[in-house]
Amino acid sequence: MTDQTMYVILLGPPGAGKGTQAVQTAERTGLLHLSTGDMFRENLRNGTELGSLAKTFMDKGELVPDDVTIRMLLERISREDARAGCLFDGFPRTVEQARALDEALGEQGNEITVTVLIDVSDEEITRRLGGRVSCASCGSVFHEIFNPPKAESPCCDQVNMIQRDDDKPAAIANRLQVYADQTEPLVAYYRQADKLSSVNGEQSPQAVGEDLLAALQAVSD
Ligand SMILES: [Zn+2]
Repeated sequence: MTDQTMYVILLGPPGAGKGTQAVQTAERTGLLHLSTGDMFRENLRNGTELGSLAKTFMDKGELVPDDVTIRMLLERISREDARAGCLFDGFPRTVEQARALDEALGEQGNEITVTVLIDVSDEEITRRLGGRVSCASCGSVFHEIFNPPKAESPCCDQVNMIQRDDDKPAAIANRLQVYADQTEPLVAYYRQADKLSSVNGEQSPQAVGEDLLAALQAVSD
């Protein structure tokens, strides 16, 4: 895409399809999809020094300190498969983390290229998340509008559907509030740095993917 290493942050509310978009955009651009969750699991599984260090905090039920996470990120982006750059998915979550990441990249002569927000209104998120139901017998997940349970199925039929507590209206409202509290300051931070781009997340996944790609192309010469 460009000679310059691209470091892209993807932000989006629950239900925006961020994970899927991240995977697909990484495939189309050659950027590494750097999921913070996957990175932790890999370090824990391989018993790396940083993984062991992180585990000492997790075992105590404490959050892994940002500097440990950032050291993991720096190690991960130094590898060959991240040569073109990477797409950060799941980090940073706070302005404090964003500042620390900027500083760490800056020490290497790098910087965040752009932050892309997949923008979806609260109403739409509530509609998407609120319709989620799962089969009481086998656990398969459906959506009342987008992927309805099958009437003819002996197991996954309408009457067998339950709604997880997580998908109930109060829980969704709470998740949206947590997201807003965390992300709005982050959005403001990158906007102020003139590094925020936003795509309309209320289109088809294909259209969102195209707009995401266009947003990345716009910042790569
Ligand atoms: Zn079932």
